[in-house]
Amino acid sequence: MSQPGEDELEVSASLLVDQCVGENLDQLSTLDMRGDGILRVLYGAARAPHSRPLTLTAAQALMGRLETGSAVLMLTGFLAPKPFPETDGLIGSAVLAAALERACGAVPVFVAEPEVASALSAALRGAGLNVTAELATRTEVPHAAVVLPFSAEVAEAEAISAALADRIEPAACVAVERPGANPEGEYHYAMGKNATRGIAPVDFLYREASARGALTVGVGDFGNELGMGAIYDAIQTETPAGKDCGCGCGGGTACATPADVTVLASVSDWGAYAIAACLAYLKRDPAVLVAGDVYRRVCEDAVRAGAIDGPTRYATPHVDGIDPGFNAALLEVMRGAARYPSRSAGHSAIRLFRAARVRAGG
Ligand SMILES: [Zn+2]
Repeated sequence: MSQPGEDELEVSASLLVDQCVGENLDQLSTLDMRGDGILRVLYGAARAPHSRPLTLTAAQALMGRLETGSAVLMLTGFLAPKPFPETDGLIGSAVLAAALERACGAVPVFVAEPEVASALSAALRGAGLNVTAELATRTEVPHAAVVLPFSAEVAEAEAISAALADRIEPAACVAVERPGANPEGEYHYAMGKNATRGIAPVDFLYREASARGALTVGVGDFGNELGMGAIYDAIQTETPAGKDCGCGCGGGTACATPADVTVLASVSDWGAYAIAACLAYLKRDPAVLVAGDVYRRVCEDAVRAGAIDGPTRYATPHVDGIDPGFNAALLEVMRGAARYPSRSAGHSAIRLFRAARVRAGG
């Protein structure tokens, strides 16, 4: 066997850093806050088909697909209940939308219930994007994000979704903590309570986008979210209401619709922050991921505009019951984890040694 050349070893060392940064961000976004171990099992199921970390896989796939002016369809907003969207998903989507705009020049296009639009628009503005409802003129708005309403009362959701997908022409579709229907077409909260009433069936739009070749990324934390269908069996077995919701619909909470890349995190929002951190790392640009102070503004603006904390249902800037101080600190740790390896050129000799060991099977 011939020895690898210096160039080959440099490439291996570079891939090694990518892998390590991605693993760090996967680990930071999967801290087991509830202490029940379920998320780790679901993460394992989602990770099984991938040798690379999930957040890195998602970021690389999105960067490969999106270019300046590309539309990225973003689906988020869990009414908990109507008319109050929960912060989880909404905040992370704003953070990720800003990252995709900065990293790729993409135009995030959100489609959600009218009740979600106000808090979502406030979060997007907090993250620095200019919100418009005009899809046709989106490229004339600097640093734009588009927010379009989709009513829950539409009888012809399938036909409307097909027409909307033709208009948006998304290169990619990202769902973060978006309710996902089970095989019966019913939506549920995590523990099985039926949530279908008031939820717009944007699953149709997601599938129309996928059928047109858009890359799909699903980010969830319990399996009842859109895009979790790739780990359907694990959700059925490993979550309390996954197989039998108890609502009488004949199914469970497990979402039937899969994604090309399934990202599991302790809190869906954290998965979105971690993907944004991977984008910042891949672009070698820390500004791709908002800083902690901007993050706090995003949370506060969203709550002022109607978002609530899901578990407690208070109008506070907590995400999944976790306080904004913790979340801002975690986001800053992610920023540091994404930034440090690019600044530590002094470590290259150690990386080359390790890359050679890995190539030798060590
Ligand atoms: Zn049910």
